[in-house]
Amino acid sequence: MTTTVNRPIVRSFLARFHKECAAHVRAGGHGVYWEEPKRARLVLPVPDDDNPSDLALFSLLDLGKQRWKVEEKGPFAGLATVLVPRSENWIVLRRVERDSVHPGPTRKVRFDCLACGACCKDNEVILFPVDVERFREAGRTDLMKPPLARRVNGKLVLTLLPETKRCRHLAKDNKCGIYTVRPDACSSFPVASECCLFARETELGIYDGLRPEA
Ligand code: SF4
Ligand code: SF4
Repeated sequence: MTTTVNRPIVRSFLARFHKECAAHVRAGGHGVYWEEPKRARLVLPVPDDDNPSDLALFSLLDLGKQRWKVEEKGPFAGLATVLVPRSENWIVLRRVERDSVHPGPTRKVRFDCLACGACCKDNEVILFPVDVERFREAGRTDLMKPPLARRVNGKLVLTLLPETKRCRHLAKDNKCGIYTVRPDACSSFPVASECCLFARETELGIYDGLRPEA
């Protein structure tokens, strides 16, 4: 089943182009605003933390950030901004490089999760109490025990196949073997988020835009 998503295009703006950056974000894009040559701020629509598929939310989660500031005045009034850790500048620069071939603030993309499965690879899914309860109700307590699950730093996670790093529940045809009881982290993983795009690049070599320079 394919899903069509209107995803934000990420653009870079020098400090003097704050109005253009704000206009790009208000039109649906994401901005990387350089306050200083090495100090960038992500400018986003205000993330909706009640919506697990919110692309602005995942744009900053992908950077390891969980908080943002809603600007009250100036050109970014009403928009969210997040300081990019200097060590992660390469991540936002790569987003900008990827999207440099796309015009406009947004882009419609079709994704076929069944033909992809990239986020089911090299990704130890954390199991939350709600998942454990769902497994219990389905009579699948095996899903929360070795070899299918293990504890890492106090958190229960699904294990990966040692040779391929695929989730043990990912079948050869890329279908999830526990689809009806799959963990919340899987069912809410947002298609077209930065995490999705990154997984497709690293696992499958699929680039929704310009490939990285060698
Ligand atoms: S990486 Fe994205 S497109 Fe691929 S299966 Fe996951 S959510 Fe779907
Ligand atoms: S449980 Fe299913 S959806 Fe989740 S990572 Fe494994 S194969 Fe993918």
